[in-house]
Order: sequence, then structure tokens, then C-alpha cells
Amino acid sequence: MTSSGADTVTHPNGMLTDGFRLTVDALKANGVDTMYGVVGIPITDLARVAQAKGIRYIGFRQEQAAGHAAAAAGFLTGRPGICLTVSAPGFLNGLVALANATTNCFPMIQISGSSQRSIIDLRQGDYEELDQLNAARPFTKAAFRVDRPQDIGVGIARAIRAAVSGRPGGVYLDLPAAFLSATVPAEVGRAAMFQAVDPAPAQIPAAESITRALDLLAQAQRPLIVLGKGAAYARADEAIRSFIESTGIPYLPMSMAKGLLPDDHHQSAAAARSLVLGQADVVMLIGARLNWQLEHGQPPRWSAAARFIQVDVDPVEIDSNRPIEAPVTGDIASAMTAFNAAVQRGHAAVPDAWRQAINDRTAQNAAKMHARLTADAVPMNFSTALRAIRDVLDGHRDAYLVNEGANTLDFARDILPMYQPRHRLDSGTWGVMGVGMGYAIAAAVESGQPVVAVEGDSAFGFSGMELETICRYQLPVVTIVFNNGGIYKGDERNTHSADPAPTVLLQSSRYDKLIAAFGGTGYQADTPDELGHALRAALSNGKPALINAVIDPAAGTESGHLASMNTTSSLQPAH
Ligand code: ADP
Ligand code: MG
Repeated sequence: MTSSGADTVTHPNGMLTDGFRLTVDALKANGVDTMYGVVGIPITDLARVAQAKGIRYIGFRQEQAAGHAAAAAGFLTGRPGICLTVSAPGFLNGLVALANATTNCFPMIQISGSSQRSIIDLRQGDYEELDQLNAARPFTKAAFRVDRPQDIGVGIARAIRAAVSGRPGGVYLDLPAAFLSATVPAEVGRAAMFQAVDPAPAQIPAAESITRALDLLAQAQRPLIVLGKGAAYARADEAIRSFIESTGIPYLPMSMAKGLLPDDHHQSAAAARSLVLGQADVVMLIGARLNWQLEHGQPPRWSAAARFIQVDVDPVEIDSNRPIEAPVTGDIASAMTAFNAAVQRGHAAVPDAWRQAINDRTAQNAAKMHARLTADAVPMNFSTALRAIRDVLDGHRDAYLVNEGANTLDFARDILPMYQPRHRLDSGTWGVMGVGMGYAIAAAVESGQPVVAVEGDSAFGFSGMELETICRYQLPVVTIVFNNGGIYKGDERNTHSADPAPTVLLQSSRYDKLIAAFGGTGYQADTPDELGHALRAALSNGKPALINAVIDPAAGTESGHLASMNTTSSLQPAH
């Protein structure tokens, strides 16, 4: 049999179908319309059949970027993003992205071909031999293998349910070559197909948990709401906004929750972050974990006396870092609906002193920020370059923003406001580098909107070859490389040999010429004006573009905002 897209193939034994076709049929039956991946043995025909049957296949240059794209698609759509990989090395390349999806609670399914099990299990040295199913387990929410064509409907349904129900995450689905090529009568295949009903069921929180939380909130003098990317993922935008506005409680958005309410909302405490973390007496976490990004909820960052409410779909998350007095276990949409219904019966006003303290600190910090943004820095630093980008993006509020790097991430998170929910994708819970082009491609493919990727030069390097993918599919992605010639900074000198210092990259790099090689448009920008012009031109063009933004190699700090985590030699001077 050759793989046309046809559902079945005539054969001397009657109408037959095979593992390739049934896999695509089962995905289609469950509404999958896009797949990201890299083809090769044994899954090349899977992509062909998918394309023939109307699933869009986006082919990448390396599996990690394809996996990051699938993960971002999962976050953006609420349906599992699908990544297709070849056996062993391709599978492992994709596994980084699958683990990252699990860590970030993004629904994703990595579907990988695998070699012959009888040879793998006896370690007889097959082509691309690896026990992939077991290798995947520790990094996933669930892992499954389908061995028989008639089981694929169940396999896909289980993978989808595992990915999207409860706390979303990464799922691995192993498809051995023998399964893919196995044939069964067409009617056996058809009987195996079904659509999973309600794969992400609502999880209604207990009524008493809502009452307990509101009772605690009513005792607050200095209440604070923290919105995490779980709140963005929940697509409960109106319910969340309504709760925040009707209670008047100040809120702090985590980076990927920015835009859930517009960043210029008068209740945003983002510009008074230190103040509110340090002084809040009752904190309501909505889809945000008390992990390193919130300094584990511990002093001195937080008040030792603060009391916590946590709204989360995963009951095991509660108490993970500090005792939670009022856990609300359930999905955020259901929880916020319940909160809103209860709040209509009346809620204590937020004390004026607290609002005033936040407003004062916000005004102070805004003045400092304004001075940094408008300084006349030559060459550009992170702030002046980002001011130019901010001014252009103010007229493109539908654009998606992808952001990774160290200083590039820290500064952009604070300087670039978001006005729409789920429009910002960044390094996330792991602080991972290499998500840039994959996330950007998924944002463009899934939304059809323009995407701006603000990338540190080091971060960009991890997925830079995907510029070819962006150009091949003609996606409206503008990549801005913050070229400061280094990891963190570009000005370290090695005084011991002729080799560059460990943190140094070539600052003479012309990243703009990389995209020109693939037919995209490159721009060089040495000043904020040039950067602004280039970005405006690229966005109005709507075609693949890259701006090489030259940043002072001395700007920024080692490890960015995470300098305190940077373990340095205690034997100074060591070098
Ligand atoms: P951030 O990094 O923005 O703080 P995290 O990834 O740390 O966000 O936290 C997201 C939290 O949201 C996770 O604990 C996850 O279990 C939870 N979550 C994800 N989706 C939902 C949902 N639909 N309803 C409730 N909680 C959710
Ligand atoms: Mg750099």
C-alpha cells in the first residue's frame, strides 16, 4: 500500500486501512486540526496522510522547537498541541519540550514513532533503539503505547483526556513502526473511532471552600490577588475581571497572566510589586503556584503573617510551600463563577490606606521607569530599546509577544504592557531558553495574528534555524534579537588565553542577514529610532522579518533578576 490520503485502500483481501490512517482519523475525530513536527523513519507517512486528510502539518528543523510550538498551541487553544517526532534521537529532542509543557501545565501530546520492540527489549541494537515509553514517563503526566490498530481510538482518547483534564500537562504516545504499518479491515478501523466526550470536565469547588475563602478575604486590611497563567489558561476572563472589579482588590499578574486584564487597569499593582508582596495580609492566588517565581511565599519577600487563599485545579498543589488557610480546589471558571455569585451579596471595601500606599509606590516607580526609558543612551540599552518597541506595539495591541532571554526577559516583562489575554508567551516556570521560535510559530499559526519575538541573542541561538520554517510558511513573525554580544552581558574578558570568555558571543553578528538567506527581510537597528522604524515597517509588511538590535554589551547584569541564584565561586579572586 502507498499512502494517499484515502480512508481505505482496495486490496485483494477487501478494503483495508492501517495504523497511519487510523491515527489521523482518531485525531480528526477529536478535533485536532494542526500538527507540529519533524518527519523521518517511521512517521513520514503519518504527516503525509494527515495533510491529505486536512490536518495542517507544520514541519520544523529540530524537534525541540516543534515540541515548544505544540505546547504553546495547547496553552493558546486549550486543546492538546500535537508534536510528531521520529524514534530515539528525535524523540529525545522533543522530550525537552514535553517536559517543559508538563512543568508549565500546558496540554500537549508528543506522538513518536519507535523502532521494533522485540529488538529494543533484548538490546539487540536496532536503528534508533530506545525504550521510549519508559524514558518519557518521568517527564509526563501520562504515557501510553498503542500496539494494535484497533486500539488507536482508545489510545488517542486517553492521551487527550490526560493532557487536558484537571491540571493540564504533557502526554507521550508511543507508536511503534509495526503498529503504523499494520493493516486491518476498514470496518474494524471504523469501529475503533470515537470522540472523547467532555475531555476537560468542569471541577466544581465545594461551596464551603468558597465561603471560607470569602470569610478570610473579608478580614483583610491589605488584600492582594495574584493571577497566574493558570488563570489565563482557564479562559474565565470575564468572571475574573468581574470579581476583581466588584471587590476592588488590587491584583498582580504573573508574566503570562499579563493582559488578562489590560496592564493599564487602575487596580493593577504590578508597578508596586515589592510593596504588595511584602505587605499583603490576605493573598488570593488564582492559578499561580508559590514556586521560585513567587519566592516560595516566604519572608523576607512576603510577610510572615500573610494568610493565603489558593484557587487551583490540583489539590496536591495546596500547602506545597506554605500553609494555605483557604484552599479552593476546582477549575478557575467554576470557582470564579461561584465567587461572583457570593460577592453580589456584599463585600467589605478595600481600605483606602492600602489603595493609597499602592498608588503612591506606583507613581514613584513609574517616574523612575520613565527616566530610564527616555534616557539618551548610546549604544541602546535594554530600556531604551524596549521603549521604542513599546511605542510601536501600542498601535498593534492584537500582536502576540514571545519573550525569552535573561535581561531581555526581565526588562521586557516590565516595560511591554499587554492588553489582551493569552497574548504573551515566555520562558515560564522553568526559565527555559529555546522556546522562542517554536512559541512564535505556534502563535502565528494558531491565531493568524502578527507575532513579535523579543529575544536575547543567546536565547535566540537555541532555535534560530527555525527562521527557515517561518519563511517557508510565510508566517507574520517579527523577531527582534537583542544583540549585546553575550549570555547576560557581552563585555567579559578572558585574561588567560586568546579564547573568548564563557559568556561572550560575537557582537559583530548580523542576525538580520540570517533571515535574508531564507528570503525574509532583515533590519539593522543601532538607535531607538531605527528600531522603531524597522518594527513599524516589518509589522505593516506582515512578512517574516528579523531586526538585529545592537545593545550596549555592558548593559544588564549577570543572570538578570536571578543574580541571587547565580552560584559563584567563593574562592575569590578565582578566575
Ligand atoms: P504562573 O507561572 O503564572 O504563576 P503557574 O504555572 O505557576 O502560573 O500556576 C498555574 C496553576 O494553575 C497550576 O498550579 C495549575 O494547576 C493551575 N491551573 C491550570 N489550569 C487551571 C484551571 N483551568 N483551573 C484551575 N487551576 C488551573
Ligand atoms: Mg545577550
